[in-house]
Parts: sequence; C-alpha cells; structure tokens
Amino acid sequence: MKDFIEIDGAQGEGGGQVLRTSLTLSAVTGQPVWIEKIRAGREKPGLKRQHLTCIKAVAAICGAKTSDVEVGSGELEFVPGAIKGGDYRLDVGTAGSVTLVAQTVIPVLLKADKPSTVTITGGTHVPFAPVWDFFVETYLPELRRMGARIEAEIDQCGFYPAAGGVVKLRVWPYDESKKPDRYELVDLGEYKSGVAKGVVAHLPRSIAAAEVGIVGVQLRDLALKHEICEVDAMGPGNYCCVKLNYERATVVFSSVGTYDRSRKAVAHEVVHGVREFVKSGKACEKHLADQLLVPLAMFVGGDYHWGTDGLWEAEVRRPNWTLDVQKETKHYTTNRDVIEKFG
Ligand code: ATP
Repeated sequence: MKDFIEIDGAQGEGGGQVLRTSLTLSAVTGQPVWIEKIRAGREKPGLKRQHLTCIKAVAAICGAKTSDVEVGSGELEFVPGAIKGGDYRLDVGTAGSVTLVAQTVIPVLLKADKPSTVTITGGTHVPFAPVWDFFVETYLPELRRMGARIEAEIDQCGFYPAAGGVVKLRVWPYDESKKPDRYELVDLGEYKSGVAKGVVAHLPRSIAAAEVGIVGVQLRDLALKHEICEVDAMGPGNYCCVKLNYERATVVFSSVGTYDRSRKAVAHEVVHGVREFVKSGKACEKHLADQLLVPLAMFVGGDYHWGTDGLWEAEVRRPNWTLDVQKETKHYTTNRDVIEKFG
C-alpha cells in the first residue's frame, strides 16, 4: 500500500477546507491520508455534520476504508479505492452547506467511470460558504471553462436553522479532449449589467426590499436592476446578493440574514464585498480563487511553480494557467499548501 500522506488539520486557516481538499485529492490520486487536528483553528474543533457528510460521500464514491468518525472527531484515516459513478443521495442533516459538499464530490465524480447524479439536502444559503447563486453563476461556469460537464438545479432553498434545502447535480466523466491548453482568469472584460437581489422565505417581503434598496443606493454607479423574491423553504430565511455581469463572467457577492443581524448589516456586507472587489481591479474574486485551486490542479495542471506579487495583490502563475487574484486569503494559501502535499 502507498504511504499515508499526513495532513495537519490545524495548518493555516485550520478549518473544514483542509479536510475537504484532502478527501478530494486522496480519492482522485489514490493516495491514503491521515488527517489530525481537524478544524483545530475553529472555536469548536473537530468534525461537524457537513464535514462528516463529505467524508461519507467521498468514501461511498471511491469505496474508501475509513477510521470510525463521528461529529467532534479530530482525526481521520482515509484509504481510497476505485471511483464509481452512480446515483448518490447525501443528507447533511443540518443547515451545513450543500455547496461545500458539492465542491468536494464534483472533482471526484469527474474522474468516475460513468455519469452520476447527486442529490444533496442541507443549507443552500448559509453564512461563510458559497450561496447557491454563487455556486451556479460564478463557480460552475469556471469549471466548464476547464472542460467539465456539470448541470445543477435547486429544488428548494435551505436556511439556518431549519435547513431542508435540496439541490441536484449531474456530473459527467471528464473528457480529456476538452481539457484547455491554457486557463486564464485575468480579464473580465467590460461591465455589462448588474442585479441586486433580495430573497425571503416565511419573512416579510419588506426585509428583502429594504436590503435591495440600501444596496441599490450605495452602489448607484453600477445601475443595478432590483429583484425581490419570496421563496418556499422549511423555515424562515433571508439573503441578499449582487450579481455583476461582465463580458467574460458573472461575479456574485452575498450576505445571509440571520435572526441577530439587521437588514442594514446584511446590505452593508454585500456592498463592502462588491466595493472591495471592484476597487481591486482584479479578475478573480477572493472566494472563487481558493475554490478554483483543486480543479485547476486536477484538470489544467502541468509543471508549475507558485509565484506571488505580495500578500494582498497576488497573481499566481503556472505555465498552464493564470489567476489574477483579488486577494491572497488564508483559505487560498492554506488550500495551496494542502494541494502541494499531494504533489
Ligand atoms: P469551518 O471549518 O470554518 O466551520 P467550513 O468547513 O465551512 O468551515 P472553511 O474551511 O471555512 O469551511 O471554508 C469555507 C469556504 O467557503 C471557502 O472555500 C470560502 O472561500 C467559501 N466562502 C466563504 N464565504 C463565501 C462567500 N461569501 N462567497 C463565496 N464563497 C464563500
């Protein structure tokens, strides 16, 4: 058997992403991993439901043998087997993010022997994770530019704490002939149009309208179209986002409302995200940057070196791909370090 790759879950950001990236890369490279100090950088260290779902999902897809794990576990031994496409149903069981689970399993299923369908139940619009709009409109188009074939749809939104969001994915095996010679995210082209969207479930429409109103005024130079939606969900929920459509891509900025946050705070978070990005003049939004590293390493690859211009204005170059990154976040550098462990 191959030697275990040892991963220190406390490194860098010390969050769930260290685990998720390790799972994905273990499955696709066939290298067993030993992860310790899982999420040691978080207030409540150890596995949460979302992470446990990721472990079970990847293990099911690649027939892995794992050590016994439960919520709160701080260590994992993961020995992958052969990746099998098929129909998978994954239930986070809480409002843990379905998009983070999706980002963990998609690269694995792209390496499967046949097409797969995946239904994931959990939170679709939760704080500190990509909201569904970002996943579908900002993240997935970049994977398609790398040659991946993926379809995604949402059946129901899921908010904290009731959850119950349902999303469906269809993932086809990666066709090597679609692999691009080069992948670049260095120029978004001209700004075309933008939307400020406010969404509520089982809450007054006026909350979404107020958020969109504030965003619209504060970002008036972007001439945003206003969109207010009421959606169904298992419990109350709210989020607000701005979508900026450029010639090359759409970038989504979001903020999720919770019972202890004012509509003003939600709106201001979105405005801040947009302003920071626009001011940077960069092409690759900071969250997208850390999320693209695994698919880039897998599907664009090639010999590489990581070079940076500096902490806040990083431009990372590999012979085969270039990202003009808004900001080198800790998630970004941590993910880079974990990927390097897998060679
Ligand atoms: P934790 O360990 O912090 O409880 P976690 O397992 O959910 O959390 P993290 O390691 O913090 O995971 O990773 C969160 C991921 O969500 C990162 O890839 C980050 O870029 C992404 N993310 C966070 N906020 C946003 C946002 N507003 N838009 C898009 N992506 C986001």
